[in-house]
Amino acid sequence: MSKNKSSESVKVVVRCRPLNHKEESSGPAGGIVQMDLRLGQVILRNPRAPVSEPQKTFTFDAVYDANSKQRDLYEESVRPLIDSVLAGFNGTIFAYGQTGTGKTYTMQGAWMDPEKRGVIPNAFDHIFTHISRSQSDKQYLVRASYLEIYREEIRDLLDPKHGNTRALELRESPESGVYVPDLTSCVCKSIKEIEEVMNIGNQARAVGATDMNEHSSRSHTLFLITVECSQPGPDGRKHIRVGRLNLVDLAGSERQAKTGVQGERLKEAAKINLSLSALGNVISALADGRSGHVPYRDSKLTRLLQDSLGGNAKTVMVATLGPASQHYDETLTTLRYANRAKNIQNQPRVNEDPKDALLREFQREIARLRAQLNHRKWRKQKKEQVEGESWDEDTEGEEEIVEKEAEDYVKLEEQRLEMEKEAIREDQFMLAEEKQRLLGEKERMMGDLRKEQEATEQLTAKYKAMESKLLVGGKNIMDHTNEQQKMLEMKRQEIAEQTRNEREIQQQMLMQDEETLELRETFTSLQQEVEAKTKKLKKLYAKLQCIKAEIQDVNDEHVRSRQELEQTQNELTRELKFKYLIIENFIPPEEKNKIMNRLTFDPEEDQWRFQPLVPAESKSLQMKKRPTSAVGYKRPISQYARVAMAMGPQSRYRAENIMFLELDMTPPTVISMDRSKEAEPNQTKSLDNSPTKDAGVRKSRSWSQNPKSITSSSSNVSLAACQTATPMAAQ
Ligand code: ADP
Ligand code: MG
Repeated sequence: MSKNKSSESVKVVVRCRPLNHKEESSGPAGGIVQMDLRLGQVILRNPRAPVSEPQKTFTFDAVYDANSKQRDLYEESVRPLIDSVLAGFNGTIFAYGQTGTGKTYTMQGAWMDPEKRGVIPNAFDHIFTHISRSQSDKQYLVRASYLEIYREEIRDLLDPKHGNTRALELRESPESGVYVPDLTSCVCKSIKEIEEVMNIGNQARAVGATDMNEHSSRSHTLFLITVECSQPGPDGRKHIRVGRLNLVDLAGSERQAKTGVQGERLKEAAKINLSLSALGNVISALADGRSGHVPYRDSKLTRLLQDSLGGNAKTVMVATLGPASQHYDETLTTLRYANRAKNIQNQPRVNEDPKDALLREFQREIARLRAQLNHRKWRKQKKEQVEGESWDEDTEGEEEIVEKEAEDYVKLEEQRLEMEKEAIREDQFMLAEEKQRLLGEKERMMGDLRKEQEATEQLTAKYKAMESKLLVGGKNIMDHTNEQQKMLEMKRQEIAEQTRNEREIQQQMLMQDEETLELRETFTSLQQEVEAKTKKLKKLYAKLQCIKAEIQDVNDEHVRSRQELEQTQNELTRELKFKYLIIENFIPPEEKNKIMNRLTFDPEEDQWRFQPLVPAESKSLQMKKRPTSAVGYKRPISQYARVAMAMGPQSRYRAENIMFLELDMTPPTVISMDRSKEAEPNQTKSLDNSPTKDAGVRKSRSWSQNPKSITSSSSNVSLAACQTATPMAAQ
């Protein structure tokens, strides 16, 4: 099962996007991020610090500045990973960074524009080109799935009922690691098909964005491609290798320090950022190496990425940055996480002959269908024994011939039966009864024949559909694969490889330089020695200052995040106390106890669940069936009530209409408006004394006769209008 059990570290590359228009116009000129492409270094300037403060430098496997092309990043940093996936490794690429820094651009890009195609569409090209160019003894099966994690719920983006269905669950198996059991997976036979799958998923995601603000930037998406490859091994048997590629576009990391966010919004924000901070904790725990416990179970995202971080996978992390000085803190945090992630060690291995390989199932099914088809042909041949032809068993892959022969055979048989029927009809010596019987028999035979043909056709169609899902190497499924292009790609690959090597050597040299500097130094005079040592002291002092600043930074960050957490905790505690208050005061204790007794905590899902009222096994014994209501009634009704109802409207049985409203249609009392000012007190008096004999509906209307509101002129008009309108309405 396992091969190549060596460990390798997570590859981390950093990409900085260009300044956008808004940043150019609002912030101070120039970015705060500088990049040394040759050395793979990012130099970050603190816009608030004095010029004398040393700048922060981080080294990565590769860096891409604002002028970098999508293709550069793909060729140099992603291509080797996809090649590994095609060889049967698990691979993960994830984009991490502040919101709006180009994660989606890097992963997805504008896939219609060849220049701007991101990692995902480029990976499609790569995979299918590789298949079309591989040897013809290889068989491939490519599947794609697409999911998102929104508010800690996993949702299938390819499910047509997306959003309305229950959230999906996670499972873990020693064979295939952490997986989502009920996830839709589509078999893809070409680039076009897999692009279609991506589009369907993206649309499902976009719908959410219109319903809910900021949805798209707040859900993590994972595009999963499984490539299964079967190839005959040296032992003559077919071996299957399964490579899984996870393409992850994370939601933007945002600082929670937005004071004023309260209640539901805060809870939502807390949940959204939970997975990102959990990811940060996992990275820290793994990079640290000392703490035995890695908190994968803290969020869905970290569980899904469990294999990619510290497990059986090759992983590339693309950290994205914005160059604007406003976002210095976030950029620094991203760089710190990225820097830490470099230390994570993975143990990738080739997944050879796993039990759950779908390709094997497909091959078995195809073999079974072929055997059935051959069997049918054999049966026919047996029937046709007249010619005494020898049966040729070697019919592999000749389903078309089989089909053709079957058609010919059916035609011949039909003709023969027709002729026989004709002969029977024309036979004058036969009795009418006998004729009828023979004709009926022939009809039946023809029916059987047609049925048989239909069954064969169905079988052939199924067989063809099954087989078409498997891609065979060497067949030209791509239109544009010519030699020249192949050469070009190889050259590009070579160049990328060379750049990578060069950078590694440069980085190593830089490190060695520092170490060996003192060994090489020989001093001719004391004076020289003092000078050299002073220089060194200065250098080391600068380094010390750097590290001190770093410690201060980290401390500040911890204090900040602690304050945020405390604030969140306070809010949540307040919310909790409020809920307790409601429970204590408004829910009867026995009801509360009933509910409490039914609750159990599900550690797998990390939430409380209700136990069913009755244990599942004894359900049928204990639960009485609910009586069904008779047609026409709203609910089951007893015999007694039915009789009572039939007897007349006794008040006691008026269950269906307790409110017995007989509306009083008399017009409301209104006041004449064209009265003089002096008359007003009188009028008011008469209003107050107006008799309200009927206490019901009319009394409740008395608010409209509030004497104070009559004084203003505008209300006069409206009331006058009312006066004319009401009698009409009452009729
Ligand atoms: P995120 O997914 O990180 O929130 P987006 O990928 O949506 O960010 O990028 C935000 C904007 O910046 C988009 O309009 C995108 O086109 C642009 N952008 C990001 N990276 C680059 C880049 N390297 N070159 C040009 N434009 C970019
Ligand atoms: Mg995005």
